[in-house]
Amino acid sequence: MQPSGNLVADTICRTAEIGLTITGAADAGNITIIDATPVTVNNLCPDCGQSGKLRDHTLRRLVALPVVGSPTRLHVRVPRFTCSNLSCARKIFQASLNCADDGAKITHRVTRWILQRLAIDRMSVSATAKALGVGWELVNQVALDACRSLVYDDPGHLDGVRILGVDEHVWKHTRRPTEPSNLVTILVDLTPLVDGRGHARLLDIRPGRSAQVLRTWLQERDPDFRENVQVVTMDGFTGYASAVDQVLPDARKVMDPFHVVHLAADKLTGCRQRLQRETTGRRGRKDDPLYKYRRTLLTRTNYLTDRQKQRLDMLWATDDDYVALEVTWLFYQDLIAAYGHPKKSEGKKLMSRVINSIRKGLPAGLEELAQLGRTLWRRREDVLAYFDIGASNGPVEAINGRLEHLRGIALGFRNINHYILRCLIHSGQLQGKINAL
Ligand SMILES: [Zn+2]
Repeated sequence: MQPSGNLVADTICRTAEIGLTITGAADAGNITIIDATPVTVNNLCPDCGQSGKLRDHTLRRLVALPVVGSPTRLHVRVPRFTCSNLSCARKIFQASLNCADDGAKITHRVTRWILQRLAIDRMSVSATAKALGVGWELVNQVALDACRSLVYDDPGHLDGVRILGVDEHVWKHTRRPTEPSNLVTILVDLTPLVDGRGHARLLDIRPGRSAQVLRTWLQERDPDFRENVQVVTMDGFTGYASAVDQVLPDARKVMDPFHVVHLAADKLTGCRQRLQRETTGRRGRKDDPLYKYRRTLLTRTNYLTDRQKQRLDMLWATDDDYVALEVTWLFYQDLIAAYGHPKKSEGKKLMSRVINSIRKGLPAGLEELAQLGRTLWRRREDVLAYFDIGASNGPVEAINGRLEHLRGIALGFRNINHYILRCLIHSGQLQGKINAL
């Protein structure tokens, strides 16, 4: 028997287009409950495909779109059948609904609505959850699954990757930020950037940072993908380098300029902080010259104003205590100049000179520079490879492009899934796909 629907309600709530008809409604405090029943029923067994015999009905509760601003639940009266095929393992089954996946708590429409609110209207997960009258975790998980399938299930998603970028990123800021459980491995397609066609493209994010994480990811790809990758750019972490050696032995490894500069900047800062402690016995305060010029020190000399240059000259002239800092700073500037050189072959010579001069035998007091020298020497082939790859973009653009996809997402996240969701949403690959849903 087909219960008579309500044409007015169906029109307002557009239930017909999702295969339901409304049979009743109730106001349950903050929540509106809409009773509905499927318009047509499929009684075929999901296991054997034979038609079943009606047994009874069950109530399926689904989160629906808010109606007039109130969270709404659909209570769908779903028929249950017994499978008439005696050799079938399934005894009882519930009719599938067009409006939601089997077992899902929310309708397809709600999934689309969540994605639109988060990715297009930039609404927060908690505001979206509140509008639907559900928990934060549910919205986050639904959005994550949907974003993942939009991005990753696109058959062309991994096509044409010649230059693969591997980054580690701290997603959770704790007292021990470099602990592997606080890190994720981010895989980026740098091909469009290097070809001058556009930005880097986020390919995937995997929890953890280890050789195993990268190895597994590469092994899961199909052979065509692995064959197509010619260059892998990465940071100084040796685990990534060994994973590439194992799985992509023919690919060229490049230690990314951004990470090399970052490493040198870290050493420069380490040296400054050490001298601060040695000369004052405490951490820097706002009137200490070493603290005051901390940003000036990290800036490339040709971006400094005359005033800033004078201040640095004064710093070096007034106090012999800062010699170690001056030497470290000069090498830091040489290293940036090598990347900034308009001719890659000249840049490579400059870089070789830097690597050779600090590889060993530095006098005491230059500990940070010596550490940098050892790392650069160990990875010299990968550092110098950058200059041979013939990327048309200058290092500055490459660095900016690399950061583009990470902008604004390196904030404190409670939950790795939320972090991944934000990365996917901010990767800019979703808007068109969500609009087309
Ligand atoms: Zn069956």
